[in-house]
Amino acid sequence: MQSIRFRLAAYYSLALTATMVAFGAAVYWERALTAPREAELVLDQHLADRATSVTELLRQQARTSRLTNAPAANSRDSLRTLVDSAHTYFDEMGDEMFIADAAGHVVYVSPAAQSLPAAAYSEVSGLLVRHPLPAGSGELVTGPDEAPLRYHLASVDSAGGIGGGVLVAGQLEIDSTALQRILLSMLMMAPLILVASASLGYWLAGRSLRPVEVMITELGAIQDGTSLNRRLAVPPGDDELSRLGQKLNDMLGRVERSFIALRRFTADASHELKTPLMVLRAGVERSLTHPQTPAEIVPALDETLRQINQMSELVNNLLTLARADERRASLALVDTDLRTVVAEAAETAEILGEERQISVTAALPGHPVQLPVDTGRMRQLLMNLVTNAVKYTLPGGSITIRLVDGADTVTIAVQDTGIGIAPGDLPNVFERFWRADIARSRTGEHPGTGLGLAISQWIAEAHGGTITAQSRPGRGSTFTVTFPKGSRPPS
Ligand code: ADP
Repeated sequence: MQSIRFRLAAYYSLALTATMVAFGAAVYWERALTAPREAELVLDQHLADRATSVTELLRQQARTSRLTNAPAANSRDSLRTLVDSAHTYFDEMGDEMFIADAAGHVVYVSPAAQSLPAAAYSEVSGLLVRHPLPAGSGELVTGPDEAPLRYHLASVDSAGGIGGGVLVAGQLEIDSTALQRILLSMLMMAPLILVASASLGYWLAGRSLRPVEVMITELGAIQDGTSLNRRLAVPPGDDELSRLGQKLNDMLGRVERSFIALRRFTADASHELKTPLMVLRAGVERSLTHPQTPAEIVPALDETLRQINQMSELVNNLLTLARADERRASLALVDTDLRTVVAEAAETAEILGEERQISVTAALPGHPVQLPVDTGRMRQLLMNLVTNAVKYTLPGGSITIRLVDGADTVTIAVQDTGIGIAPGDLPNVFERFWRADIARSRTGEHPGTGLGLAISQWIAEAHGGTITAQSRPGRGSTFTVTFPKGSRPPS
């Protein structure tokens, strides 16, 4: 499963890639469209500048040699004289240039222009003979397969006497490598930007989701009813995460209140039921022992007494767990030799198992095993384990109870050769009201409430210990209670 962090980083990189591709395409498209027009403008400007400077030079020369006052019939010769005196300069300019007199006769062709195709000549001649001269920029078509030539035509002097025109032409050159360079730079930058943006996205997503991680850890720490009083650390501000934290805290508050109310109700109801059950039991017991009780109702009274006893046990267990949840079930710790408690439990198991030929063995150390325990609760724990062992062992089976005094721990193990517990059921056995075979408990074959092991677990943990179960279906089960030596139980 991909984490939200990974997905956010992926979406971020994807969005950035799409934006980059769109931006790159727009830049490339814009450049491809405007580059020819820009090149044309630059060329036109260059040609116009050249034409203007040539005409300016010619005018200047005319003024200095006072030729501008010469008669119009001499204009061709005068212009040729002017051009001749400056032709080295014109040649060096390197442009494709034509100079014509007022009648349109070409008096100068620059060396660069001499290599132009013949079609260009006729086009230029056609322009230069026109009167008035079509001054300005334009395009010359020099052949079907030839690229068109840009030109600028400037009049030398229409009013001053010499007349004539200057035409400077040039090939439009579009620098296609500029576009390729743009494309190449984009392609080279793309992976770098992608890696950088993916890393940045991952880091940013991690940073934004850190409060969520903290909330998950804090929520994970709220395991059971006893930790419901904990609250999440709400991130500062009024953003979505702090509102989520606030709402979760509100919800935890509501859950805690319901939990407390439920616990209170269970404790109160169990407490209230205790007295009527005691009265009922006393009444039934008196009826059973009363000489005038008709013999035919004795079985019904026996069954009633059995049900009352079972109900009393359930009520007592519920009350114990409710008090434990409210931390009102305190332990009266007394330094005890655990061998006594274990031996008592083994005796009870022997009595219970006698009827069904279940043998009971107790393995106890030869020396006292002293631990500060609540003897009553310890008895209750062992009684739960041995009654279960007897209940779930078939006639002819055996039960072994071991007390082991280890270096750091004391363990009590109750092992039976009974029906066992399926591996899938094993993690549930300490849950309240969980029973492997509910049907059989109703028929009375395996009576019980499903609270015995939950209480045993609470007793073990209240003493600072643990309880574990190992089992193989059809082979038997072992319940092991371990107490650490020398440590005080949790308060
Ligand atoms: P109860 O015995 O009243 O049903 P427990 O909490 O003592 O309740 O036990 C819960 C369930 O665990 C039992 O219903 C039974 O299915 C299973 N169990 C407990 N001890 C044993 C055992 N020694 N052998 C097989 N199953 C057991």
